[in-house]
Amino acid sequence: MYKFSFHNHTTRCQHAQPDMSDDSLVQAHIAKGFTSMAFTDHCPWKTLIHPSGIRTRMLYSEKKEYIASIDMLKKKYAEEINIFSGYEMEYIPSLHEEMVQMRKEADLILLGQHYLYNYDTGSVQGFNYSQDHISEKDLLHYPVLIEQAAREGFPDIIAHPDIYLKNRLTFGDTEERIAHRIAQIAVQHHLPLEINLAHIAACMDGRMSKEHYPNADFWRVVSQYPVQVLFGIDCHWLFQLDLYEASIKRAQEIIGKKTMAALSFCTEEDIIRRRR
Ligand SMILES: [Zn+2]
Ligand SMILES: [Zn+2]
Repeated sequence: MYKFSFHNHTTRCQHAQPDMSDDSLVQAHIAKGFTSMAFTDHCPWKTLIHPSGIRTRMLYSEKKEYIASIDMLKKKYAEEINIFSGYEMEYIPSLHEEMVQMRKEADLILLGQHYLYNYDTGSVQGFNYSQDHISEKDLLHYPVLIEQAAREGFPDIIAHPDIYLKNRLTFGDTEERIAHRIAQIAVQHHLPLEINLAHIAACMDGRMSKEHYPNADFWRVVSQYPVQVLFGIDCHWLFQLDLYEASIKRAQEIIGKKTMAALSFCTEEDIIRRRR
């Protein structure tokens, strides 16, 4: 049983359980026996709300209150659980200063590269997961953005690295090459890769019908490298915590015994030590 949970959202992102207070999220973690947790809500951007126009993250004006709420809970629950502040952040080259600032003010940064960046035009596009719409060139930008973020020292964890395989019909040469590249980046920068449990839990709860990730082929490639991994709940709804053990069991089934045995899991200390 892993006693730390480093991928959790709040209602500020506008797509989490509407009545899930920050306090209730902490209490649910304590009830589950976690000794540490992090708040890693989708980071706010000053200028970019969402490329598609739908709000999926806190407003920039809510940032102060978000950090203050975490600081308050750190003190309130100091005896029961270690709480870290954090953001799930995309790497967006044109928003460098904002990324630097958020990295400074938070304990942990998860890189969740939901967006592609068009280097030619400097524009951000929502990551398009469907094979029909994503060009090979765009897909190949995915590890480039991860590598650049790692090189500039932003992330502490790469969240759902296999997100690029969502809705891809095959795991072909390009997909495999990208998996190798991400594993190599993780090795080079000592970055742990997250096995994301969100879709598994959503499927178990009947809210989703497809376990988009974890992707077995991706993790088979990763297992060939000396990479550290961890489970991430990516909690938007409290039921995901109830299904925590069951989600891990399902992830193990999907990834397969052989690959699971070859993966090396990091500890909370590995992540915190690396940050220092
Ligand atoms: Zn994410
Ligand atoms: Zn997330």
